[in-house]
Amino acid sequence: MLKTILVLIFVLCGVYLAPVNFKEMGDENLISDVDVIEDSIKEDLSESPTRVKRFNAKKHPYLRWPNKTVPYWINMTFYTSEHVQQIEKAMREIENVTCLKFVGRTYQHDYVTFTGNTKRCVSQVGRNGGQQYIRLMPTTVETNCFRLGSIMHELVHTLGFYHTHIGTNRDDHIKILWENIDPSRQNDFKVFLKSDEVDDFGLGYDFDSILQYHSKAFSANGKPTIVVKDPNIKPNRMGQRKSLSRGDVLRIRKFYDCDDEPNI
Ligand SMILES: [Zn+2]
Repeated sequence: MLKTILVLIFVLCGVYLAPVNFKEMGDENLISDVDVIEDSIKEDLSESPTRVKRFNAKKHPYLRWPNKTVPYWINMTFYTSEHVQQIEKAMREIENVTCLKFVGRTYQHDYVTFTGNTKRCVSQVGRNGGQQYIRLMPTTVETNCFRLGSIMHELVHTLGFYHTHIGTNRDDHIKILWENIDPSRQNDFKVFLKSDEVDDFGLGYDFDSILQYHSKAFSANGKPTIVVKDPNIKPNRMGQRKSLSRGDVLRIRKFYDCDDEPNI
Protein backbone atom coordinates (compact mmCIF):
# COMPACT_ATOMS: atom_id res chain seq x y z
CA MET A 1 0.00 0.00 0.00
CA LEU A 2 2.75 2.42 1.04
CA LYS A 3 4.64 1.49 -2.11
CA THR A 4 1.58 2.26 -4.24
CA ILE A 5 1.14 5.63 -2.58
CA LEU A 6 4.81 6.49 -3.10
CA VAL A 7 4.60 5.54 -6.76
CA LEU A 8 1.44 7.60 -7.13
CA ILE A 9 3.10 10.62 -5.50
CA PHE A 10 6.13 10.21 -7.73
CA VAL A 11 4.01 9.97 -10.87
CA LEU A 12 1.81 12.88 -9.88
CA CYS A 13 4.84 15.05 -9.09
CA GLY A 14 6.42 14.04 -12.36
CA VAL A 15 3.31 14.96 -14.31
CA TYR A 16 2.97 18.20 -12.46
CA LEU A 17 6.61 19.24 -12.50
CA ALA A 18 7.62 18.23 -15.96
CA PRO A 19 5.64 20.85 -17.87
CA VAL A 20 6.58 23.56 -15.40
CA ASN A 21 10.28 22.81 -15.64
CA PHE A 22 10.07 22.62 -19.38
CA LYS A 23 8.27 25.92 -19.61
CA GLU A 24 10.74 27.66 -17.33
CA MET A 25 13.65 26.34 -19.31
CA GLY A 26 12.03 27.46 -22.52
CA ASP A 27 11.43 30.94 -21.19
CA GLU A 28 15.00 31.20 -19.97
CA ASN A 29 16.22 30.29 -23.40
CA LEU A 30 13.98 32.85 -24.97
CA ILE A 31 15.19 35.57 -22.67
CA SER A 32 18.88 34.75 -22.49
CA ASP A 33 19.38 34.04 -26.15
CA VAL A 34 17.24 36.64 -27.76
CA ASP A 35 19.75 37.37 -30.41
CA VAL A 36 19.34 34.00 -32.03
CA ILE A 37 15.59 33.82 -31.72
CA GLU A 38 15.32 37.15 -33.44
CA ASP A 39 13.89 36.71 -36.87
CA SER A 40 12.30 38.87 -39.48
CA ILE A 41 11.44 36.32 -42.08
CA LYS A 42 8.86 34.39 -40.10
CA GLU A 43 6.97 37.57 -39.48
CA ASP A 44 6.93 38.29 -43.19
CA LEU A 45 5.79 34.82 -44.11
CA SER A 46 2.85 35.14 -41.78
CA GLU A 47 1.56 37.89 -44.03
CA SER A 48 -0.64 37.20 -47.02
CA PRO A 49 0.89 35.40 -50.03
CA THR A 50 0.76 38.55 -52.14
CA ARG A 51 2.76 40.38 -49.54
CA VAL A 52 5.33 37.61 -49.41
CA LYS A 53 5.76 37.84 -53.14
CA ARG A 54 6.17 41.56 -52.95
CA PHE A 55 8.63 41.43 -50.08
CA ASN A 56 10.80 38.81 -51.63
CA ALA A 57 11.74 41.44 -54.12
CA LYS A 58 14.42 43.22 -52.25
CA LYS A 59 15.19 45.18 -55.38
CA HIS A 60 11.64 46.46 -55.55
CA PRO A 61 11.64 50.20 -55.04
CA TYR A 62 8.51 50.01 -52.88
CA LEU A 63 10.61 48.44 -50.15
CA ARG A 64 12.58 51.61 -49.85
CA TRP A 65 11.38 54.37 -47.60
CA PRO A 66 10.66 57.48 -49.67
CA ASN A 67 12.70 60.62 -49.11
CA LYS A 68 15.22 58.46 -47.24
CA THR A 69 13.02 58.96 -44.21
CA VAL A 70 11.51 56.40 -41.83
CA PRO A 71 8.66 57.73 -39.68
CA TYR A 72 8.25 55.95 -36.35
CA TRP A 73 6.13 55.86 -33.24
CA ILE A 74 7.05 54.24 -29.93
CA ASN A 75 4.27 52.61 -27.94
CA MET A 76 5.02 53.86 -24.43
CA THR A 77 2.74 51.26 -22.88
CA PHE A 78 5.72 48.96 -22.91
CA TYR A 79 8.74 51.20 -22.62
CA THR A 80 10.52 53.60 -20.29
CA SER A 81 12.38 56.76 -21.25
CA GLU A 82 15.60 54.70 -21.09
CA HIS A 83 14.22 52.35 -23.73
CA VAL A 84 13.27 55.30 -25.91
CA GLN A 85 16.73 56.81 -25.55
CA GLN A 86 18.32 53.53 -26.58
CA ILE A 87 16.05 53.15 -29.63
CA GLU A 88 16.83 56.69 -30.70
CA LYS A 89 20.54 56.21 -30.05
CA ALA A 90 20.49 53.25 -32.46
CA MET A 91 18.76 55.45 -35.02
CA ARG A 92 21.43 58.15 -34.65
CA GLU A 93 24.15 55.51 -35.21
CA ILE A 94 22.63 54.69 -38.60
CA GLU A 95 21.91 58.30 -39.49
CA ASN A 96 25.52 59.27 -38.78
CA VAL A 97 26.91 57.04 -41.52
CA THR A 98 24.09 57.11 -44.10
CA CYS A 99 21.63 59.59 -45.56
CA LEU A 100 18.69 58.02 -43.72
CA LYS A 101 16.55 59.94 -41.26
CA PHE A 102 14.25 58.51 -38.60
CA VAL A 103 11.54 61.00 -37.68
CA GLY A 104 8.67 60.94 -35.24
CA ARG A 105 5.49 60.09 -37.14
CA THR A 106 3.01 62.88 -37.66
CA TYR A 107 0.62 62.16 -40.54
CA GLN A 108 2.63 59.77 -42.73
CA HIS A 109 0.71 56.76 -44.07
CA ASP A 110 3.63 54.33 -43.82
CA TYR A 111 5.44 54.13 -40.51
CA VAL A 112 7.09 51.86 -37.96
CA THR A 113 5.63 51.22 -34.53
CA PHE A 114 7.94 50.00 -31.77
CA THR A 115 6.06 47.71 -29.46
CA GLY A 116 7.06 45.44 -26.60
CA ASN A 117 4.30 42.84 -26.37
CA THR A 118 6.73 40.08 -27.25
CA LYS A 119 9.56 37.91 -25.93
CA ARG A 120 11.50 38.36 -29.11
CA CYS A 121 13.22 40.97 -31.23
CA VAL A 122 11.46 41.06 -34.56
CA SER A 123 11.20 43.35 -37.55
CA GLN A 124 9.57 43.28 -40.95
CA VAL A 125 11.80 43.72 -43.99
CA GLY A 126 11.59 47.03 -45.81
CA ARG A 127 8.60 49.32 -46.07
CA ASN A 128 5.43 47.23 -45.92
CA GLY A 129 2.80 49.92 -46.37
CA GLY A 130 0.75 51.40 -43.52
CA GLN A 131 1.70 50.62 -39.97
CA GLN A 132 4.39 48.01 -39.48
CA TYR A 133 6.24 46.83 -36.42
CA ILE A 134 9.56 46.44 -34.73
CA ARG A 135 8.86 44.30 -31.68
CA LEU A 136 11.47 44.50 -28.94
CA MET A 137 11.00 42.67 -25.68
CA PRO A 138 11.37 45.32 -22.95
CA THR A 139 14.51 44.28 -21.10
CA THR A 140 17.20 46.17 -19.22
CA VAL A 141 19.00 48.51 -21.56
CA GLU A 142 22.16 46.97 -23.06
CA THR A 143 20.78 43.44 -22.67
CA ASN A 144 18.95 41.20 -25.15
CA CYS A 145 16.68 43.15 -27.50
CA PHE A 146 17.87 46.41 -25.99
CA ARG A 147 21.51 46.05 -26.82
CA LEU A 148 22.31 48.90 -29.15
CA GLY A 149 23.47 46.47 -31.86
CA SER A 150 20.30 44.40 -31.60
CA ILE A 151 18.14 47.46 -32.21
CA MET A 152 20.37 48.47 -35.12
CA HIS A 153 19.99 44.95 -36.52
CA GLU A 154 16.20 45.31 -36.53
CA LEU A 155 16.40 48.79 -38.00
CA VAL A 156 18.51 47.52 -40.90
CA HIS A 157 15.82 44.90 -41.61
CA THR A 158 13.28 47.71 -41.65
CA LEU A 159 15.42 49.54 -44.20
CA GLY A 160 14.99 46.56 -46.58
CA PHE A 161 17.68 44.00 -45.81
CA TYR A 162 17.48 40.28 -45.09
CA HIS A 163 19.84 38.15 -43.02
CA THR A 164 23.22 37.70 -44.64
CA HIS A 165 23.22 33.92 -44.33
CA ILE A 166 20.13 33.47 -46.52
CA GLY A 167 21.63 35.37 -49.45
CA THR A 168 21.60 33.48 -52.73
CA ASN A 169 25.41 33.40 -52.81
CA ARG A 170 25.75 31.98 -49.32
CA ASP A 171 26.72 28.44 -50.36
CA ASP A 172 29.92 29.79 -51.88
CA HIS A 173 31.00 31.06 -48.49
CA ILE A 174 29.30 29.13 -45.71
CA LYS A 175 27.97 25.67 -45.09
CA ILE A 176 24.73 25.14 -43.20
CA LEU A 177 24.85 22.16 -40.84
CA TRP A 178 21.17 21.22 -40.95
CA GLU A 179 21.61 18.31 -38.56
CA ASN A 180 22.54 20.72 -35.75
CA ILE A 181 19.68 23.17 -36.21
CA ASP A 182 16.68 23.17 -33.91
CA PRO A 183 14.03 21.62 -36.20
CA SER A 184 11.55 24.38 -35.38
CA ARG A 185 14.01 26.99 -36.70
CA GLN A 186 15.11 25.40 -39.95
CA ASN A 187 13.06 27.87 -41.96
CA ASP A 188 15.39 30.60 -40.75
CA PHE A 189 18.18 29.03 -42.77
CA LYS A 190 16.37 28.49 -46.06
CA VAL A 191 17.17 30.63 -49.06
CA PHE A 192 13.78 31.61 -50.38
CA LEU A 193 14.89 34.61 -52.38
CA LYS A 194 15.85 34.25 -56.02
CA SER A 195 19.10 35.66 -57.28
CA ASP A 196 17.36 38.28 -59.40
CA GLU A 197 15.34 39.44 -56.40
CA VAL A 198 18.27 40.35 -54.20
CA ASP A 199 21.23 42.56 -54.65
CA ASP A 200 24.45 42.61 -52.65
CA PHE A 201 25.47 45.70 -54.61
CA GLY A 202 28.65 43.98 -55.72
CA LEU A 203 30.01 43.97 -52.20
CA GLY A 204 30.21 40.20 -51.76
CA TYR A 205 29.48 38.09 -48.73
CA ASP A 206 29.81 40.05 -45.51
CA PHE A 207 30.80 37.90 -42.53
CA ASP A 208 30.98 41.03 -40.38
CA SER A 209 27.47 42.24 -41.14
CA ILE A 210 25.21 43.12 -38.26
CA LEU A 211 22.68 40.92 -40.09
CA GLN A 212 24.88 37.81 -40.06
CA TYR A 213 23.86 35.10 -37.59
CA HIS A 214 26.58 33.70 -35.34
CA SER A 215 28.01 30.25 -35.91
CA LYS A 216 25.82 28.46 -33.36
CA ALA A 217 22.55 30.28 -34.04
CA PHE A 218 19.52 28.09 -33.29
CA SER A 219 21.71 25.12 -32.46
CA ALA A 220 19.81 22.17 -31.05
CA ASN A 221 22.89 20.48 -29.63
CA GLY A 222 25.48 23.18 -28.96
CA LYS A 223 27.33 22.43 -32.17
CA PRO A 224 27.77 24.96 -35.01
CA THR A 225 24.93 25.53 -37.43
CA ILE A 226 26.96 27.74 -39.77
CA VAL A 227 30.57 27.06 -40.72
CA VAL A 228 32.82 29.23 -42.84
CA LYS A 229 34.31 27.57 -45.93
CA ASP A 230 37.43 29.72 -46.09
CA PRO A 231 39.80 28.49 -43.34
CA ASN A 232 41.38 31.93 -43.19
CA ILE A 233 38.17 33.47 -41.91
CA LYS A 234 37.55 33.09 -38.19
CA PRO A 235 34.01 31.91 -37.43
CA ASN A 236 33.70 34.28 -34.49
CA ARG A 237 33.57 37.16 -36.94
CA MET A 238 29.99 36.11 -37.53
CA GLY A 239 27.24 37.38 -35.30
CA GLN A 240 28.71 40.66 -34.08
CA ARG A 241 26.10 43.09 -32.74
CA LYS A 242 28.34 46.01 -31.94
CA SER A 243 28.11 48.23 -34.98
CA LEU A 244 27.31 48.33 -38.66
CA SER A 245 30.03 46.69 -40.71
CA ARG A 246 31.70 48.62 -43.50
CA GLY A 247 29.64 46.48 -45.88
CA ASP A 248 26.39 47.29 -44.04
CA VAL A 249 27.10 50.99 -44.41
CA LEU A 250 27.97 50.69 -48.10
CA ARG A 251 24.90 48.57 -48.89
CA ILE A 252 22.54 50.96 -47.12
CA ARG A 253 24.14 53.92 -48.85
CA LYS A 254 23.84 52.24 -52.25
CA PHE A 255 20.26 51.07 -51.72
CA TYR A 256 19.21 54.58 -50.74
CA ASP A 257 21.42 56.36 -53.29
CA CYS A 258 23.14 58.26 -50.51
CA ASP A 259 26.19 59.01 -52.60
CA ASP A 260 24.07 60.80 -55.18
CA GLU A 261 23.19 63.36 -52.57
CA PRO A 262 25.24 66.51 -52.21
CA ASN A 263 26.83 67.39 -48.86
CA ILE A 264 27.13 63.86 -47.52
ZN1 LIG B 1 17.27 39.63 -37.95
